[in-house]
Amino acid sequence: MTKTIFEKHVAGRKGYTLPKLDVPKNIGIPEKYLRKEPPFIPELSELDVMRHFTELGDKNHCIEKGFYPLGSCTMKYNPKVNETLVRNPAFTNLHPMQDDDTAQGSLEVMYELQKDLASISGFADSTLQPLAGAQGELTGLKVIKAYHDSKGNEKTEIIIADSAHGTNPASVTLAGFKAVEIKSNDKGMVDIEALREAVNEKTAGFMLTNPNTLGIFESSFEEIAEIIHSVDGLMYMDGANFNALLGIVKPGEIGFDIMHYNLHKTFGTPHGGGGPGSGPIGVKEELVKFLPTPMVRKKEDGTYFLDYSHKDTSLGKLHAFYGNFAVNLKAYFYIKMLGIEGLNRASENAIINANYIMRKLEDYYYIPYKEGCMHEFVASGKWQKDKYGVSTLDIAKRVLDKGFHAPTIYFPLIVKEAMMIEPTETESKETLDQFIAAMIEIAEEAKNNPEILHDAPLNTPVRRVDDTKAVRELDIRFKISK
Ligand SMILES: *Cc1c(COP(=O)(O)O)cnc(C)c1O
Repeated sequence: MTKTIFEKHVAGRKGYTLPKLDVPKNIGIPEKYLRKEPPFIPELSELDVMRHFTELGDKNHCIEKGFYPLGSCTMKYNPKVNETLVRNPAFTNLHPMQDDDTAQGSLEVMYELQKDLASISGFADSTLQPLAGAQGELTGLKVIKAYHDSKGNEKTEIIIADSAHGTNPASVTLAGFKAVEIKSNDKGMVDIEALREAVNEKTAGFMLTNPNTLGIFESSFEEIAEIIHSVDGLMYMDGANFNALLGIVKPGEIGFDIMHYNLHKTFGTPHGGGGPGSGPIGVKEELVKFLPTPMVRKKEDGTYFLDYSHKDTSLGKLHAFYGNFAVNLKAYFYIKMLGIEGLNRASENAIINANYIMRKLEDYYYIPYKEGCMHEFVASGKWQKDKYGVSTLDIAKRVLDKGFHAPTIYFPLIVKEAMMIEPTETESKETLDQFIAAMIEIAEEAKNNPEILHDAPLNTPVRRVDDTKAVRELDIRFKISK
């Protein structure tokens, strides 16, 4: 097993040379706050450190190494040119407190991105401030709250579908609303009758993940919007998976009032261990005044400025300054590089790729909703479980042995033994075929050699871990034994 970096420590070994200290050692920190003993920091040479992290990196799976069909997470390949562009000192040397007139280029980029996101999705404007999809949801719900407060409406409930992403009910609760969940129909879509029953004068809005977590586009959007708008509720679209709709559907034109985008799923910015992300929201004209301050606006003379003029109606701030600027910058490059035609082709390819895998696997795995999916689909390990006692967890672990990342499993909750597969548009047919062949092999193994699946993974640096122990007794601190 790889030793931790602390265990590799050799007292006195150094990876640096520094000039002699020529300033006072203690710069005035009161005696009582000074440590009695220096903290234990492992001492290693530069080469030791390089080898340590390269070894760890090699053990990891990443998109640069192999296919990553993690449904709902959209693990597509992001163009590396963006990483180079974003490191331009003209951007990296900016200070957020600088005067507007010394940061015109960066303001222009933010302005353009606000406008592009809004126009791609049919909204009046967008804010770049939220730092993740989930924070975009919270922002959108706060817009709903601000809208109702401004009209004196007393509304306390947000309706969500049972096929919603897990963050939806969490955000609803965090924003101070009560989440009212309705069941999906047998096509995996919103059950209109159930919706009618759930709607009343307390309904503040409806939050719809679209395409939903079954990878299905909600085709009854018009009827749904009519029902919600009839009680002055607002329509919120969870557009995290907008990578399925680029250039195909403009949510702002089909009845939605608010939507969030996941730049890290749709517009080529990296996921990063929980951040930095970016989850802008787009809104209809009458809701723009509620967006966080500031917005970037353009004056008649063509210059850009940070506009705080709506601060009395604004819901406030979600984050210091203007959001994750460098992340937003990458999305800007991605959009300008592809143009609307390129974006449209990305969505079309994402949809074709998902449907291709679904069709190739339908004889081997149970697929509950197979009328045609968008960018992802949900298969189930139900046949393997019922016939051979092989669980979806076993199948997912065996996928690792075949050199791929596993799909999302046991989600959405409404499908038993669910496996959510999203190939994305960036994968070639050869890669998709390799994955399909691996999944078929696993289906054969389930029949002929189920033991292998119970033991999987066999070929990974770490074998099967105890998930329950990891969750219940999480302890990631390294303890130094003296
Ligand atoms: C990923 C996702 C979210 C949450 O986005 P984060 O950036 O991870 O907070 C919300 N809704 C859907 C449908 C998603 O796929």
